[in-house]
Amino acid sequence: FPKYNLNGSNENERILKLKGYVGFEKLAHQYVNKIVKEGISFNILCIGETGIGKSTLMDTLFNTNLSSSTSTHCLENVDLKSNTFELSEKNVNLKLTIIETCGYGDQIDKSNSHQEILNYLDKQYESFLQEELSLNRNIHQINDKLVHLCLYFISPTGHSLKAIDLNTMKALDSKVNIIPIIAKADTICKNELLHFKQRIMNEIFKNSINIYQFPTNENDSCVNNQNLIANSLYPLAVIGSNEIVKFGNKQVRGRQYEWGIVSIENESHCDFVKLREMILSTNMFDLIEITHTKHYQTFRATRYIELGFCDNENFDPDKKNKCRILRTIKDVYCAKKLDLDEEMHLKELQFKDKFIKKVKEKELIIKEMEKNLNSKFNQWKIEQDEWRHRIEFKRRELDDQMREFTERKFCLDKLKLSTLSSVKNL
Ligand code: GDP
Repeated sequence: FPKYNLNGSNENERILKLKGYVGFEKLAHQYVNKIVKEGISFNILCIGETGIGKSTLMDTLFNTNLSSSTSTHCLENVDLKSNTFELSEKNVNLKLTIIETCGYGDQIDKSNSHQEILNYLDKQYESFLQEELSLNRNIHQINDKLVHLCLYFISPTGHSLKAIDLNTMKALDSKVNIIPIIAKADTICKNELLHFKQRIMNEIFKNSINIYQFPTNENDSCVNNQNLIANSLYPLAVIGSNEIVKFGNKQVRGRQYEWGIVSIENESHCDFVKLREMILSTNMFDLIEITHTKHYQTFRATRYIELGFCDNENFDPDKKNKCRILRTIKDVYCAKKLDLDEEMHLKELQFKDKFIKKVKEKELIIKEMEKNLNSKFNQWKIEQDEWRHRIEFKRRELDDQMREFTERKFCLDKLKLSTLSSVKNL
């Protein structure tokens, strides 16, 4: 493109003199206004054992009332419970969905505890993909359902991660942004917490689990520094509470103990404020964007390969689902059409074979029936002939008897007449 400079600072560039205000500098405002008008959807998935403090932490973060309904430890399988809230801060509306696990870690066999969660994430991606592929798509509405953040609650054992933690985080790390957090951090003392955090991070790296890293390459150096500090605090140690307690001469959200008060918003007590700042005020957009540009794209690419799409010339067809190298929708359409034609032809042949076999079977049955009928008919005919002969014979016998009777009657009549005439003559 030829380059035009509105201010004309370079000699080689053509200088355009502004005759008035152009205004494309306001594009960012237009964009912000549109988002403010439409509102933002943010979906958080909380994974953790029953009673670890998921609902309480969410209530602490968003002033909701999730912890009022406690779940039991008796569920046979892991389940997911979802709640949606409309929140508003100044002019910005936030549609917040909190999805919590129920019965996670309560089963004897925990090897498949992550399966239900994986199915849920895939279901959301699949409906987004189907919406994207449909003719009358409504991407904005379906957008609401993708999970943007997964808070993984680690038990404050002070030891290390459990097998279920490693299994689940490993299974989900390519599907969602995972932020591991140590729950009920008030139950571990400060020194132990530092070692616990270190041990957890070592295990996460040793098992190559990809957790969400707060971005440090933003334009704003202040944000970069904050994110750098937050990354160094991983896994964030949090405390949740719905109680307001008196701390000095202030009312604070915290937990009251015999020995003192834990203030949730005090950064020397826990990382709650850091977590809130990181996920809500600094990196919410990044979490949403990464969900779409990284996790959804990975899912989409895998599904497209399954459907027959592939835009990599060096793709090895034997490695994945016998996928051919296809570049455009037209290629895929033609290939699918060929496959279908082949399938149809095969089905047609099978159908013809089946039909001929059936006709032959029916023909055999009909022939057998015809044979039976013929033999019955012949038998019946023989019987009829016999009857006819017998009747004929009887008829002839009767005729003879009649004739004999008539003759005898005639003789008798004659004799009677002669007798009568002889009596007359006398
Ligand atoms: P969920 O089943 O994971 O949702 O757990 P809840 O949020 O219902 O919490 C279970 C219990 O743990 C409740 O009695 C909470 O008061 C308590 N609890 C929640 N968060 C904390 C915390 O940070 N520290 C301590 N000590 N207790 C907590």
